[in-house]
Amino acid sequence: MEIAEALRLVQGKIVNSALRAGRNPAEIKIIAVTKTVSIEHIQEAIDAGLRIFGENRVQEAQKKVTSCKLQVASKDKDSLLVTRYSLPKIEWHLIGNLQRNKAKYAVQLFDLIHTIDSIGIAEEVNKQAEKIGKTQRVLVQVKLSKEETKHGVSEEDLMPLLEMISNLRNLKLEGLMTMPPFFDDPEKARLYFRRLRELRDNINKLRVTSYELRDLSMGMSNDFEVAIEEGATMVRVGTAIFGVRR
Ligand SMILES: *Cc1c(COP(=O)(O)O)cnc(C)c1O
Repeated sequence: MEIAEALRLVQGKIVNSALRAGRNPAEIKIIAVTKTVSIEHIQEAIDAGLRIFGENRVQEAQKKVTSCKLQVASKDKDSLLVTRYSLPKIEWHLIGNLQRNKAKYAVQLFDLIHTIDSIGIAEEVNKQAEKIGKTQRVLVQVKLSKEETKHGVSEEDLMPLLEMISNLRNLKLEGLMTMPPFFDDPEKARLYFRRLRELRDNINKLRVTSYELRDLSMGMSNDFEVAIEEGATMVRVGTAIFGVRR
């Protein structure tokens, strides 16, 4: 299937799930996950209207970020002013685990980092952002399952981590991210998504941070409809747009 056609299907499902839950579909952003996807296909996705891309490795992202920004810029230059101003900028998000020694590059590359999960990594990202005079937008990844292999801060450690992050001046905390275990039946992921929304709502009620957290990054190709019903504002979709990864 063509990328544009696959994207329309995903968008249709997003609208339907949002309406089912009484939500405004415009609140939900698609993060198109481009790990292993070629630059040609990313360009096709840009042409189809996608503007936010997610990568889970810093190194893989480096090449793509530079070439895709150039593509949009050069297209802009040739077109009328009207088009230039109506084309929103491309955003790159880091959705995979971040190691401290890559923080410097992550801060250079990514508009939003979804995977802050410890005080150590938060401090390192803050330090690197300060060096280049950037305010780095971040989400905190929460681990809601007992799986050993998953990254993320536990529920017990979440509040202290958030309080600490809200004191770091070069980080802008915008919300929470989670990745439930994989289930064939997406209904089984529902309780994890609901829990993440409850945590965000509690954080806002208790005023743990100095401003309200809005974003919930949750839901992938297999389960984004359920995630949207439970409040997702960002869905991270790869396979359903680009096909099965090789
Ligand atoms: C790969 C990946 C996705 C997208 O998975 P699909 O099932 O292909 O939609 C989403 N989030 C993270 C963190 C990923 O690594």
